Order: sequence, then C-alpha cells, then structure tokens
Amino acid sequence: MSSVPPTAKEAAAFPDGTTDYVPLRGNTSAKVKNHKTRVHISEVPMTWTNWPQHMNWLNCTLVVLIPMVGFISAYWVPLQLYTAIWAFVYYFNSGLAITAGYHRLWSHSAYKGATPLKIYLAAFGAGAVEGSIRWWSYGHRVHHRYTDTDKDPYSVRKGLFYSHIGWIIFKQNPKAQGRTDITDLNEDAIVVWQHKNYIKCVLVMAFAFPCLVAGLGWGDWWGGFVYAGILRVCFIQQATFCINSLAHWLGDQPFDDRNSPRDHMVTALVTLGEGYHNFHHEFPSDYRNAIEWYQYDPTKWSIWLWKKMGLAYDLKQFRANEIEKGRVQQLQKKLDQKRATLDWGIPLEQLPVIPWDVFVADAKNGKALVAIAGVIHDITDFIKDHPGGKALINSAIGKDATAIFNGGVYNHSNAAHNLLSTMRVGILRGGCEVEVWKRAQFENKDITYMNDSTGNRIDRAGTQVTKVVHPVASADAA
Ligand SMILES: [Zn+2]
Ligand SMILES: [Zn+2]
Repeated sequence: MSSVPPTAKEAAAFPDGTTDYVPLRGNTSAKVKNHKTRVHISEVPMTWTNWPQHMNWLNCTLVVLIPMVGFISAYWVPLQLYTAIWAFVYYFNSGLAITAGYHRLWSHSAYKGATPLKIYLAAFGAGAVEGSIRWWSYGHRVHHRYTDTDKDPYSVRKGLFYSHIGWIIFKQNPKAQGRTDITDLNEDAIVVWQHKNYIKCVLVMAFAFPCLVAGLGWGDWWGGFVYAGILRVCFIQQATFCINSLAHWLGDQPFDDRNSPRDHMVTALVTLGEGYHNFHHEFPSDYRNAIEWYQYDPTKWSIWLWKKMGLAYDLKQFRANEIEKGRVQQLQKKLDQKRATLDWGIPLEQLPVIPWDVFVADAKNGKALVAIAGVIHDITDFIKDHPGGKALINSAIGKDATAIFNGGVYNHSNAAHNLLSTMRVGILRGGCEVEVWKRAQFENKDITYMNDSTGNRIDRAGTQVTKVVHPVASADAA
C-alpha cells in the first residue's frame, strides 16, 4: 500500500496534540458524531436490568465463552503427545508475536523489522486473538501515556480484576479514554491490512491453521482445534492480561515508585519476559525488558537472534548510565524514607539561641547541660549510662566540652556523636560551628550541609555538627 490510508486524512487534530482514533471500518464520520453526543452506557450505573447492555458481547465471546467451550470439549478430546508439543510451540510463537511484535515493535518502535519478520508477527499475532495490531498498540500507547489515571484504558487503580479483564468484557466509554498518536501505524501497510482483514486473519490463524497442522500432520483434527486452537488462545490471552494486572501489582520498583508498574520474575515467566515492567515503563523504547543476563526475557533473546539473522535492525537500548541513574535515585529515595523514621535530634534551626551566661547559670541551678561545638545538650538522663563513668561526664557540666569530647579526654565514636545529637536543647550565642552555619543560612550563602528529599539534614558519619577535627579551646573565646 503506497498511498496514505484514508484514516490519516480523516484523523482530526486533538487539543492535546495527538490525532483521534477513528475506526477504519464503517461510516466513520457518522460514528464520530454519534460518540460525541450520545450518553454512553458506561455513564449509567449497572443494574439487574441493564447489565446485558454493559457487556461487550463480542469480547465476552472471544475471551470467556469460546475458552469455556474449549475446556468443556477437552473432556471428549484426549490430548495426544504430538498435539501437546504443537500446542506449546504455537503458544510460544503466537505469544512472541504479541510481545516482540505487537508490543516492542509496533507499540514502542524498540527496533525495526524486515518485511518477512513483520508478516510472521502480524499473522501469528492475529492467532493470539487480542485485537488488531492497530487497536492493541493504540490502547497500549495510551496506557503508557496516562498510566494509572482515568484515561488509562486498563488502570490498575480501578482494581486488579478491572485491569486484567474487566476493561475488555465491559463496554468502555471512548470519550473517557486518553488519546495518542498512531500516524506511523496508519502508514504501515502490514498493520493497516491486518486491521482491515482482522476477522479473517483470526479465523485462519487462531483456529484453522493449528487444526490443519495437527490434522494433516498426525490426523488429530479435533485435538489441533481444541488444544492448539482454543485453549492455546485462552492461555495467551490470560498471560497478556497479566501484564496489565499482575505487572502493575506484584513485585519491586527499582527505578521509580511513583506509578504502579513493577518487576517480578513470576510475571516474566508467564509473559515471555514482559514482567520487568517497572523497567519497561521507565525505558519503554528499549528492546529489552530484562537487562540482567540471568533474568528471563525470551522476547529479548528472540529479537537479538533475529538481528543476527538479518531480520531485525536498529535495536534501541538506553545507556547503562541512564538506567543506573534511575536506580540510584530510587535507592536514595528509599534511604531518605528510612532516614526520616529515625531520631536525629531537633534540627539546629529550631533550637533556641542561649547566651553563655544563661547556660552557665542554668547548669549551676542543677540542669545537666554540656556545650559541644556551640550546641547545648541536656545529658540528665544519660549520666548514669555513660560508658566512661559518671565522674568524667559530670566534670563537663556547665562547660564547653568540645575539646574533651573530641579527643581531649576521649575521642568519641560516631555512634556517640549520633546519640549526643538526640540530647541537644539549644545553641550557644557565639558558639563557633553552629553560629557560622546559621549566619551562612541567614545570608543565603552556599551551605555545605545537604538535605535529603524529606527535607532533613543528612548527618553522615563524621559530619555531625559536634564533630570537630581540631577542637577549639573554649566557645566563649570565639
Ligand atoms: Zn504497563
Ligand atoms: Zn509497553
């Protein structure tokens, strides 16, 4: 097909910068007008009387009723070994046509395919009975664009059942779904041909072809139809649905946890490697879903093999540097969340500033106050627990113990500095370190102390405010 398909001309520009999805079949202008004015059934609550109108009966037939017929028929049709092997081989190939073809090639342009490969993927993909490439890829691009929102056609926020199969068997309001651009698909002759001849493709590839192979091959016509046809389709459909449900619900989020996609080996095993979905949503145009060699991604291996065979080219891959950046940011976020649960002491800027005379007077009046590096600490509850004994710690009360604490008497551990920070109650006016820090903050100067994403100061080992490498003799001398 060399000329531009009529749809590309008919597609009206949308306010969000994309082109609307217009069905290729039927009287399109009337359909578009109708869907803009009519109240859609999905906008009416489901009741005991109107539920049949809520159901998408064509989809119900394809994903529920036909598989049920298959399971019941299996009672009378014994499974032969050759048929079982054939059903599995065809399962893998039609599944691969969805993951490597529908998904990574056409939805995400993660690589380019030679015409014979594209024909194989389009034909076997039709044999999976998941809609045409054009319809499938459109919905999938919308899913990536509007993940977890109301415009996401299979948002997991509407429930696991909805994201798995509910969105298929109930009628969906086309006005509510987000829109996206599929100009490239409208210009792909194989995609357009498969879309226009989709029902014929399904009948041939999903049912007639597996039946013919088993029938002509070893005389098992019914087995080919039931096992390699109907039941194989059912398993592929359910596996694919798992990407929309399970892969947004089960597993880890090593790259970003602000949306639902997750990585899990179980989902990967079920879906020929599509289970590393957190990675995929972050790097959708990467031809890989699993990036570690030991992770299960037969779709990636197949694309790589096709490249070696000259059938696939321009394989897209994000730089390891970009991938690691995402991983580190997520790790940092987790770390910050963990840090936020710990007691690091009252933030310095929230402490009252106390003159030296008041500090000394308070200590004389019985308060167990110790000044270290300009910070005043109330050690009342700690005296009895001091590992160095009561005498030494008592001798520091009412004094500047910066030098004593930092090696003058004992070079306290990192843990001791951490513990000390939880006892701070004030800041000495003119108290070295802290005063410098506060002035810098007031004057809006570059402050070397870093805050984490929860807004708290990061106290690394050895950078606590009480840690002084070359201790000063006394604070009031400053
Ligand atoms: Zn997803
Ligand atoms: Zn995707």
